Amino acid sequence: MTSILDMKSVTDVITQCPDERSVIRMMMNEGLIRNSANCEKCGGPMTLRNRKDSMEWRCRIGKGDCSSKSIKTGSFFSSTRLSLTQALKIVVMWNGKYSSLQIAREVKTSPQTVCDWRNFLRELCSEIESTYPKIGGNGHIVEIDETNVHTRKYGRGKEKSDDWILGGVDRESGKVFVCQVPNRTALTLVPLLQANIDRDSIVYSDEWASYSQLKKYFTSHFTVKHKTQFVNLVGTRLVCTNGIEGLWSRLKKPFKQGNGTSEALIGSYLSEFVVRENERMDSSKR
Ligand SMILES: [Zn+2]
Repeated sequence: MTSILDMKSVTDVITQCPDERSVIRMMMNEGLIRNSANCEKCGGPMTLRNRKDSMEWRCRIGKGDCSSKSIKTGSFFSSTRLSLTQALKIVVMWNGKYSSLQIAREVKTSPQTVCDWRNFLRELCSEIESTYPKIGGNGHIVEIDETNVHTRKYGRGKEKSDDWILGGVDRESGKVFVCQVPNRTALTLVPLLQANIDRDSIVYSDEWASYSQLKKYFTSHFTVKHKTQFVNLVGTRLVCTNGIEGLWSRLKKPFKQGNGTSEALIGSYLSEFVVRENERMDSSKR
């Protein structure tokens, strides 16, 4: 049985799950939808029956039906009108970074529905992100930096807003954290670094004043001068922040392509970004 994570394209979906019922079986195996149900009326176990191209749960008493419910009940997909095949295609194509228009065409649904799904999946990423442990630890090197992105203040409006972002990359594990910050003072940045980086880490940063006390909070702290000095030789230690520079260029790509995000959505955009980085879903990184 194939896993949803192995599906990289619509072709994979079509070849591995050719009809709605095989999508249902795959989703049951993966725990994405329930594989048993109890009747809300009598509490008895329900059975599956074929209904049109799909299936549904029903409780049967004698020759009549006691109750029935949707196969999607109580799942991630409970509120969608789409078939599970359509929903699966959206998730797989979103994972593969297809455009909303490409997804809408393939799935034969409206761009608005795809947009709702994108926001829904981004919210899911926020939940996943909140379960991640601190990065670093075990003496790992963690590169940190701040950067800013320009977002549109009111959705499609022209007014731009400047948003500061703080981030870190664990060089050994490749795990990252990213968060939006209201300013770049030590009062703002230091507690966020402590919340996201294990204290048993070696931190590399630029010489921004807010980072001057980091030695107190982590195993050690080394700095590199940005722009003028790409690497800094401290004893035998070559300090550089190429890792975080790479992270920023990947993070900023959609903003540069002009299909940036509105200020209201930046938090969930960042969550999606972090989950893609940490789960290695982004093929461009490999
Ligand atoms: Zn019943």
